Order: sequence, then C-alpha cells, then structure tokens
Amino acid sequence: MAERETLEVDVLIVGAGPAGLSAALRLAQVQKSKGGDALSIAVIEKAPDAGRHQLSGALLDPSSLRDLIPDFESKGEPLGTPVDNDNIYFLTEASKFRLPITPPPFQNHGNHIISLSQFTKWLAAQVEAEGIDLFWGFPGQHVLFEGDPHSVDRKVIGVRTGDRGIGKDGQPKGAFEPGADIHAKVTIFADGVRGHLTKQLYRELQIGAGAGPPQFAIGIKELWDIPKDRLKPGTVIHTLGYPLREEEFGGTWLYAMNDGRISIGMVVGLEYRDPLFDPHAAFQHFKLHPFIKSILEGGQLVRYGAKAVPEGGWNTQPQLHVDGGLIVGDAANFVNSMRLKGIHLAMRSGMLAAETAFDAVRSGNTSSKSLAAYKARVDGSAIKSELYPVRSVHQAFGHGLVAGSVAAGLAMFTKGVALQDLPGHPGHKQMEMIQGYYGLAKRDYLVPSNAAPIDRKVTFDKVTGAHYSGTHHDENQPVHLLVHTEVCHTICGGEYGHPCVRFCPANVYEMVDNGTGGKRLQINASNCVHCKTCDIMDPYGVITWVAPEGGEGPSYEGM
Ligand code: SF4
Repeated sequence: MAERETLEVDVLIVGAGPAGLSAALRLAQVQKSKGGDALSIAVIEKAPDAGRHQLSGALLDPSSLRDLIPDFESKGEPLGTPVDNDNIYFLTEASKFRLPITPPPFQNHGNHIISLSQFTKWLAAQVEAEGIDLFWGFPGQHVLFEGDPHSVDRKVIGVRTGDRGIGKDGQPKGAFEPGADIHAKVTIFADGVRGHLTKQLYRELQIGAGAGPPQFAIGIKELWDIPKDRLKPGTVIHTLGYPLREEEFGGTWLYAMNDGRISIGMVVGLEYRDPLFDPHAAFQHFKLHPFIKSILEGGQLVRYGAKAVPEGGWNTQPQLHVDGGLIVGDAANFVNSMRLKGIHLAMRSGMLAAETAFDAVRSGNTSSKSLAAYKARVDGSAIKSELYPVRSVHQAFGHGLVAGSVAAGLAMFTKGVALQDLPGHPGHKQMEMIQGYYGLAKRDYLVPSNAAPIDRKVTFDKVTGAHYSGTHHDENQPVHLLVHTEVCHTICGGEYGHPCVRFCPANVYEMVDNGTGGKRLQINASNCVHCKTCDIMDPYGVITWVAPEGGEGPSYEGM
C-alpha cells in the first residue's frame, strides 16, 4: 500500500478562484517588497486546470484588479466587453415594462462583461509567473487540526487532499494513491461558496457562532450564440418579476458580449417556501417569455452551468480567522447581492488575507489573535464600506418583495443608516411541507408547480443541460454525494415530494421504480455540476457534498 506523503509549506491556499489566486499573487508581491527569506507557498485546486470550475454571470468591477495588478492592461487581461448600456425591466407573463431609471446598484458603466473562467486562467498565469506552485486536480478533502478534538480552539495545521484510485465499492483500484497531508503555518480557505472545508470549520470550530445564518441563492447560467446584429455588445439587461412570484426573491440577467455571444441566467434565493418549485423550470419559463424568446430564437446553446451564490451579506460573515487559518471570498460570504457582484470582493479579501498571513508567518505567530489583523483589514476596507450599508437587504426579501424593496430603498438612500439588522433564516428551514403549502387539495405531488415545456430550441431539460456543462466523473468511484437515503425512502416523499429532484439543476437525483411498486432514489452523481445547492437546500440536512476524485466535475471554459 502506498504511503501517505506529508508536505510542509508556510502558506497553503485551498482553491484557485479569484480569492485564492489574488492571495497567492499578493503574497508574492509582499515577499518582493519586503525581501528576506522566501515563504514557501502552495495553491491546491480541485479542477484539472485553471478556470475549469469557475462560473459567474459575470460583470467585473475592476477596482480590486487595479490595486492588485495596476498594469493589467499591458498584461493581456481578458476584460471582455465594456458595459455600454444598462436596462432593467419588470416582466409580466406576456409583457415587459422598462424602469425609467436604473437604480444605482444596477448601474454598470465602468464594469466589464467577462468570462470568469478565462479571467481566472489569466490570473493563474500571473501567479505562476511569480514562481508559485499551483497543484491542479488536488481537492482538499479534510481539514487537519491539532489539539483537543472537543475544543473549538483547535489549531488548523493544514489540509489532507483526496485519495485517488478508490473504486465505487470503497476498495483501492489498481493505481491507488492516498491523498497528501499538506501542513502549513497558515491555511487560507478559498474553497468557494459552501466550501466543504470551510463547512468543517463551521462544524468543528463553530466559526458561525454570533453571525447570521448564511443565505444562498442558486444561479443558473447559459451561454448562447445569437445573430450578431441582434444585441449591441455591452448591452446589459436585468429583469424582475415573471416567472418568479412575489414570494420568490430573484431576477435574471442577459449580457451581450462581442460576436453575438450572450450570457443569460437567473438567480433565485434558496429561501423559497413552495416544495414543488423548480428553479431550472423557472429559468425555462423565463426563456419562453416573448421578449427573451425573440432574442434567443435562431441562436444556439453553447454552454450550461449552475452554482450557489452566498447572498446573506455582511452579517453572515463567519469568524474570518482561527488558529492557523483565514477564510476568504465566497467561503466567507463576501458577495453584494444588491449589485450581483462578488469577484472584486473575493479578490480584495484574498489580498488582505495574504498581507496578514505574510506578517504572521514572518513574526512566528500564527495564532487566531495574530491573524485577527485580517478582520481589522477587512473592516477598514472597501469590503465593509460596500457590504455594511446593504447588510439586511437579502434577509428583507425573505419577507416578500415589498419588504425587500423598502429595505433596498433604505440601503440606497440612507447608505444603510436607517436599515435594521434582520436575522434571516437558514434556507432549507423556509421550505414548507406539501400539505402545509398546498392544503389537502394537492394530489399530484410530483408535478412541479412551474413545469415548463421543453422544445429543445430555446428550452432544454436538465440532462441536456448537464451535457452542455461538460461535466465528467468516473463512474467507478465512491459517490461524492453522501445521502441518508432512508429519509428519502420513508418520510420525504409524503412531506416534501422529494424536492431534490427539483432543486438540483443537473438531474442528479431521480426517483425510480424500486421493483416492488414503490420508488427509490437513484443518484446520477456523474451529472453533478458542483453547484452545492443540495448540500444547502435539502429540508432534513441529510445530503453532504464532498469533493470527487481530483480533476473531475464541470468544464466551464468560456463561462
Ligand atoms: Fe448541485 Fe447537488 Fe445537483 Fe451536484 S448534486 S448539481 S451539487 S444540486
């Protein structure tokens, strides 16, 4: 049996998205400016290469990029298409109304429509040019701790990466390779929304104590090629209203890039109450709206993807520093849900964490107290000045469109001064049981309340979507979705009508005949696009997402 390797570094960064890569680059910059013995730095990432698992709308606010790489323009940064015009519409089922003014959070002049995947690839190249090692296809699987296992003051000493070469029966296959233990003086957790290592910190070190419960949305995105003369490059369209109801918080986007390429998608808060609601079906209805259909008709679907979005804002940030560890980016819930933006906040938090980690390693003190300098930096930065004024807006939308709109107005016009701190609810706790929501009259439990027709021209089913995500997982490996199926097979059908088959955007969960006249859960794990929605949304908390074998998952080139 192969031995488990142990590696020692000064700073380990888990996750090569905008936050993790900005942390790596800032470490290299600080190192250069301060001189002295070079710190050893490693970045591990579950994707097989740069950008492959990166998905966002995406409109980039370039403010953090300017600070990180002031000469980015001369370095070939793929800034995509500058925003030319902003449009915001309210949709009814058959009509549209253009808002006469674009509210400040939706004003995007100066921002750029980018492919986050391409942007991340470019950022990774800047990091590699500084001589920092990036290890692709190495998912962090477990946080390594030192100290009393019952204490929340344990020290993080690094991360164990996932094993390779385990069969679906749990036994080693021919080329078994145990994961490595990477020990670090400081580990920076940049493992993204609902990061499964950060989740271990929530559980083991109680980093969420004192914070509001995290709030999430699901974002579903498609890339399309449409006739080039249909939309001016740089056109940005946001919509509110149809097909979402008053009780569902969310909206849609449509961004026009060069050469007829568009990004189109929908974001829906995961606090919806209707157990039969299906976000993917709602997105199909959106595409069938006459206004949107007229844009898409004659075009071609190019790519599909989905991802949860941490929308809870400032009051849901966990404790950002522990002994030996810092949390950045989406893992720390740094997204501005009013602006639909988080990439610049992720980058900023990575930069601030890097400066803190560097000082701590150099001083020989990487305790939580020493790393608290990161929190002070965040509080003094643009992250707080942007997120604090809008801190309860998402939570207010949990009380309906009117309450949310009032909160958004207060946030905008009083810079958050008149905004109350609202607690919010953990998403899955909002979903109601079928009988409670529909009453006894509802008999056809398994028909989604918003089922959409699939024409395979404008609308597509989830299996086709998964195909267009390019996702791939070897079938002969342990299922990376740990599900207590006894709950599905006993109470979930009657109580919630198996909502996993609806909230998963990739048809991973299916109820199939069990051969004895009943149903059983079939998990099509190879379809998974790593969006994390099931880990957040199942009403019993019985689904846990863990990283599959390194390198596997969606393939989001160009997204
Ligand atoms: Fe997303 Fe879970 Fe479905 Fe995978 S199984 S695509 S993480 S909801």
